[in-house]
Amino acid sequence: MTRSVNHPQDDFAPLPGRTLRDIPALVAAGLVPPDAAPALEDVARQYATAIPPAFAALIERPDDPIGLQVIPDEAELAVAAHERADPIGDDALSPVPGIVHRYADRALLKPLLVCPLYCRFCFRREHVGPDGGVLDDAALARALDWLRDHPAIREVILTGGDPLMLSPRRLGAIVRALEAMPHVTTIRIHSRVPVADPARITDELADAMQTDRAMWVVMHANHAREFTPAARAALRRIQARAIPVLGQSVLLRGVNDSVAALEGLFRAMVEARVKPYYLHQLDPAPGTARFHVPIAEGRRLLAGLRGRVTGLAWPTYTLDIPGGHGKVPLGPDYLEAGEDGPTVRDPAGGRHKLASESAPNLALGARER
Ligand SMILES: *Cc1c(COP(=O)(O)O)cnc(C)c1O
Ligand code: SF4
Repeated sequence: MTRSVNHPQDDFAPLPGRTLRDIPALVAAGLVPPDAAPALEDVARQYATAIPPAFAALIERPDDPIGLQVIPDEAELAVAAHERADPIGDDALSPVPGIVHRYADRALLKPLLVCPLYCRFCFRREHVGPDGGVLDDAALARALDWLRDHPAIREVILTGGDPLMLSPRRLGAIVRALEAMPHVTTIRIHSRVPVADPARITDELADAMQTDRAMWVVMHANHAREFTPAARAALRRIQARAIPVLGQSVLLRGVNDSVAALEGLFRAMVEARVKPYYLHQLDPAPGTARFHVPIAEGRRLLAGLRGRVTGLAWPTYTLDIPGGHGKVPLGPDYLEAGEDGPTVRDPAGGRHKLASESAPNLALGARER
């Protein structure tokens, strides 16, 4: 490895403006050593690879928190016993292609399976990729018909793949079709594009997202360094259309598995007017074990943030229960059952008895009599 740590831009100069999409391109960019290429070709046959120039420029070393997220690794060929191709059970919940329906009031609409980059830890890695999974006109019409026929659906979550990889015309057509359904009050877009390829968020694309329905964007980022000036400008183009932006992240070994890294990430979000929404426990997709952080450690990391960062920077630490049973918060918890009544833990670890919880509620008792 001969890459310079100090001048990542110079290293990429031979490939200006090109997304790195295969192993030879990664070797040429100095991101993988030539002797690792044969094994990585096996990985590349199984899982898509893409690193857009804006994201590649952030990589200082292949094993840094940016490089780890997107550079293929031989370890992806090792599938652990608990890992599954469909870790959160989406396939069984798909009534028609492009729709996933798990909760009564909301449904996913996946208009395409293309992403600006391919995360090595992706929970949909068996499905996403550059050449496939764009719903054609007829399939999109059937998916929209399904949503039209289900008045209990109040919120449609556009995901994929990445909906902001669509052309402004195609995205605009989907948003217009959804806003014509009276029962759809809320539209959500899940996207990695604002940090992965911010130049794609043109005014035209942002205009296509504008609607009189409640539109929310949930952007995916895992490290503070992803919040470049270009990414922040892309977010501003979305926010300028009266669209609030939330953040979702995955807790990842080597990327953000320290209190300092999480603090930096969530502070960067808040400073970009992005409210941290979910910190996901890693879903057990095939070949992702190198990113696993145990739940007990995740809870300790989050507890380390409590009291230290603004409450605005606090996400819900969330597990999507393997097998399709839904998302649940993982704590940390501050209320504990004590010997003589409940105690509550303060951010510094001190325990306090909660007299009010064990005392009879006199006011209520009086009212009932
Ligand atoms: C994650 C997910 C949602 C959205 O869940 P929220 O908790 O509302 O963010 C909806 N449907 C499916 C199938 C999901 O996996
Ligand atoms: S952007 Fe999302 S869907 Fe696409 S590869 Fe990354 S985690 Fe998977």
